[in-house]
Formats: sequence, C-alpha cells, structure tokens
Amino acid sequence: MDKLICRSCNGEFSLSEAIWRCECGGLLDVDFRASFPIDKINRRPSGFWRYREAIPILDDKNIISFNEEFTPMVPLDFNGKEVLIKLDYLFPTGSFKDRGASILISKVKELRIKRVVEDSSGNAGSAIAAYCAKAGIECDIFVPDYTPPGKIAQIESYGARLHRIPGTREDAAHSALRAAKDYYYASHHWNPFFLQGTKTFAFEVAEQLDWISPDSVIVPVGSGSLLLGVYKGFNELLNAGIIDRIPKLIGIQAANCAPVAISFKENSNDVYEIDKKETIAEGISIAAPVRGKQVLESVKNCGGKFITVSEEEIKESLRWICRKGFFIEPTSAATIAGINKYLKESSPDEVIVSIFTGHGLKTTEKILKILNE
Ligand SMILES: *Cc1c(COP(=O)(O)O)cnc(C)c1O
Ligand SMILES: [Zn+2]
Repeated sequence: MDKLICRSCNGEFSLSEAIWRCECGGLLDVDFRASFPIDKINRRPSGFWRYREAIPILDDKNIISFNEEFTPMVPLDFNGKEVLIKLDYLFPTGSFKDRGASILISKVKELRIKRVVEDSSGNAGSAIAAYCAKAGIECDIFVPDYTPPGKIAQIESYGARLHRIPGTREDAAHSALRAAKDYYYASHHWNPFFLQGTKTFAFEVAEQLDWISPDSVIVPVGSGSLLLGVYKGFNELLNAGIIDRIPKLIGIQAANCAPVAISFKENSNDVYEIDKKETIAEGISIAAPVRGKQVLESVKNCGGKFITVSEEEIKESLRWICRKGFFIEPTSAATIAGINKYLKESSPDEVIVSIFTGHGLKTTEKILKILNE
C-alpha cells in the first residue's frame, strides 16, 4: 500500500519519487488505501478536498486549491427521461480538468519540483497553468496550432510558456514528451496523480445522492482521464464499504475519432492508434490514448459500453442544450448526443448521471459557426 506500481513490469516505487512513468516505459498507477470518515467529511467545506483521507498528499501545506466547491448536479429532462448532470464546466478554469490539476500540482509542490510540462487540446493546459500560477511553479504547455483562441488566451494569461505546435494533437504530445526529458511531465494522459483528482467526481456524485451509487454514469472519452478517475473513485467507495456496487460506465466518443469504441466493438484486448478524421469535439480528439487499454478494461469490468456520435449529432445537441440555458463547448455536446442514444435502451427507473465538461466561452467562434449553419 502507498506506492506507485508499473502496469507493465509490476515494478514498485515510493509515492515520493519524482517519476511519471516506469523505467521500463510502462504506465504507473497509484496504490493507496482511501478512507472516508463520513463524520469528519461532513464537517468540512464543500469541494473535493473534503475527501482528504482519499487523496495521497502528505502535508496540508502543499495543497493547491481555489477553494473549489461541489459542482451542481442538475436534473435535466431528455424526452421524458431524467438525467442528473454535473456542471463541471463551472470550475475555476472552466472544465473538469481542475479536479486533476489541483491534486497533481499539489503533488508537484510536495515533490519540490519547480517546472513542469504538459500537452493539451486546451483545457488540461489551462488547468495546469492556473494551478501552477497559484503554486508559483513554472510550466510549459504544448498545444496544437489549431487550438481555439479562447483556450490559447487563457493559457497565456496564467503566465505559462505556450508552445503552439503545427500539425495534430499527437504532434503536440510528441513535443511535450521530448521536453519531459528535462522537466517533470504533468500529463493528464501519463501522470497517475491526475487520476487521483478526477476520481473525486465519483465521491461527489455519491455524496450528492446521499451515499448511494447511481446505476450508470455517462462520460466523454478522449484520453480517458475522466472515465478512469470515475472508475477508480467508485471502486474506492466500494472497497471502503460506502457503496455496494459500481455503476455501469458509458463512454462517449466522436465517430470521427473513436479508437477505444472501435476496440470495444471488435472485442479486442488493446487499443490501437487510428487514422482519425477531424471533429468539432476537439477535447476528445485523441487518436492513440496512452491508457486506452486500461479504459477498455474498466468499461468491460463494470458492464458498461461505448457509444459513438456523428458530427451532425454533436452540432444538433449543442444547439438544443444552449436553448436550455447551458453554454458548453462542442466537445461537451458530444456527451449529450451520447446520452440521447443511451436513453433509447435504458430502463425506466435507472438513475443516470452525466457531466458537462467544458465552458462555452472557451470556443465562442466555433459555437457561433455551428449556430449559424
Ligand atoms: C479533456 C476533455 C474531455 C475528455 O477527457 P479525457 O480525460 O481526455 O477523456 C472532455 N471534454 C472536455 C471539455 C475536455 O476538456
Ligand atoms: Zn515497468
């Protein structure tokens, strides 16, 4: 317990080693026994740091936080069926990535690291840049050249060194990986401490439902940092005896870039890089998710599935949701298109939770274009 374990060679490392992958090149997982002293939790302010005994940061003085609160969980009617939506686009930097960034950058501070690198389609970069700014840690953020101006402005405003890389999202990742030879890689794809933050989504949902587990949780999947965190979080609640089952996880991918959904459909045991097509859901446009195999296994283990959505379905969903008063980015509208498809097969009394991941103000010109089409 309380160690890093390599998923490839089972090598073990201390939680206080400044590594983000194994010497063998394998992905690391955090092995840590989370506990949930409900009385103590209840006495603390709302927000993910109230699950203090479930977060592997040793010293409170290393916590980097904007005193984030619980994100609202709002019931939304989809043609007569209700889905509970967590409004994670209301976090300080406008996306759920703040969950991962807060815990990861706290860890970075604990490790006394002064400079980190990250690559992103924009939102993870913004979140890492903001929490680094709060912590006084330098950061280099690599983004694809096509990243929307709102996200670029946000990253630069926080004082990050911004690197706009010509080409694809994958080219930005390769550039960051090269820079990670010299600096600690605060990657939401590789770094296992990011998942220690995204897992708090599960804790919050369970608590907002009075400590029960929903039947299913529908999340978008790019790299899978959200889905893997949600899976880990519900497993920790189960192991601690707080809930009695894991919800089915439903992963949503854009049909134009669906490497994990394809593997699931073909009943494959691994995920392979695909030739992706362009998608307006830039936040989930990941052709070769490094934890793809882990995402696939998690969804299979909980009896979940994947659903893919077309560009037209994403656009329609975006126009529909804005008219309901939710201003979210196109990537998040992919989830709505997926919800609509899932509800065609869900049972009438199923408790379904989903998430709006990113704020619309990050991509206004894209949204205007979609509205005017
Ligand atoms: C990052 C992101 C996603 C996808 O999350 P992964 O952790 O990469 O699967 C979905 N929506 C938005 C708005 C994002 O920024
Ligand atoms: Zn290894």
